[in-house]
Amino acid sequence: MPNLKKVFEASPKYKKMLTAPDGHIYSLPWIEELGEGKESIHTVNSLGWINEKWLKALGLEHPKTAKDLYNVLKAFKEKDPNGNGKKDEIPLSFISNDDGNDLKMLFAAFGDGSGDNGQHMIVDDDGKIKFTANTDAYKEAIKYFNKCYTEGLIDTESFEQEWSRYVAKGADEKYGLYFTWDPHNVTGPGDDYVMFRPLAREDGQVNVTRTNNFGFSRDRFVITSANKNLELTAKWIDQMYEPLQSVQNNWGTYGDKGQNIFKLNEAEHKLVHEPLEGTAPVELRQKTSVGGPLAILDSYYGKYTTMPDDAKWRLDLMAEYIFPHVNNNYNYPNIFFSQEDTKKIADIEADMMGYITQKRDEWITKGNIDEEWDDYLKQLKAYGLDEWLKIKQENFDNYNKG
Ligand code: CA
Repeated sequence: MPNLKKVFEASPKYKKMLTAPDGHIYSLPWIEELGEGKESIHTVNSLGWINEKWLKALGLEHPKTAKDLYNVLKAFKEKDPNGNGKKDEIPLSFISNDDGNDLKMLFAAFGDGSGDNGQHMIVDDDGKIKFTANTDAYKEAIKYFNKCYTEGLIDTESFEQEWSRYVAKGADEKYGLYFTWDPHNVTGPGDDYVMFRPLAREDGQVNVTRTNNFGFSRDRFVITSANKNLELTAKWIDQMYEPLQSVQNNWGTYGDKGQNIFKLNEAEHKLVHEPLEGTAPVELRQKTSVGGPLAILDSYYGKYTTMPDDAKWRLDLMAEYIFPHVNNNYNYPNIFFSQEDTKKIADIEADMMGYITQKRDEWITKGNIDEEWDDYLKQLKAYGLDEWLKIKQENFDNYNKG
């Protein structure tokens, strides 16, 4: 598979993440690079978007601390920033525990600022794995959200809403602040919503909690033992790792009927993004890309493809507001665990992860975190948190040795 081999030669870490503990490769990956290390588009998946038109209408600054944010949300609720004479504003909305649509980035404004991410796990600069959903900072954040909820500052639908409902309210510009990957998919093409600046905690420090293993998945293609044409199949799939093909598989077509993502510059053998003409990028990509096994490396931009406008736009904003505050040197890589460890982790997470979300949502909407906190900590241990951390730590240490 010469194309895939070239990818591995350029970036050996992907071969490492793909190789099982027994030394074999069993599946073929999806790889998407957009920026490197701490300055990658995948550094953080949950970002906020704040209604700057409303801030301006009320003469308010961008909030700098959790306290400022509370005052801003309160003003959004009470002072009719959309000027229609009705109290129809939704100060804060999100979709609970739904990747980029969750409000997780706000957790870093509390306590020691380590914050939270989808796996409730960060890596400190000594290489120690830390759990995030059992800390005083986590508790403090939830108490703050409970106060906001009690005072009607949080959308009551945040804990159960469908994407279509989230988008419908967004299209009506009902939100003061909300969370998603790309606001164009929710509040449309206008520029009323701007990137939310990460909040400082009480000591003035700002941190953005890194998202773990994002931008790589190892499970996009397998060949079974029933396959009679192993070599031919491998040759075919290798074509998906040819740079121009990977780019199309990830984002979309050129030269097809209807709207395309690209046009082909034949002289330079390069795909050039076409203007979106108001179409939401995610919609057009979903219609015209196939996904699957592919690899796009940083070195491809300018050589085989232009960077998508929305990615360039996002990276420029992240460079201004996010990257300077990404303090941790590590995140947790996509490690290939042994079958035994995979099973243990899956067993623990089956109970523990749902419980964490359930309690978080209950505490935000109904309160009682002080009364229930000790039982919660006990319950996490009963589900196997210590063993979970031990497995994660051992694998991280081995990964860095190997
Ligand atoms: Ca209003």
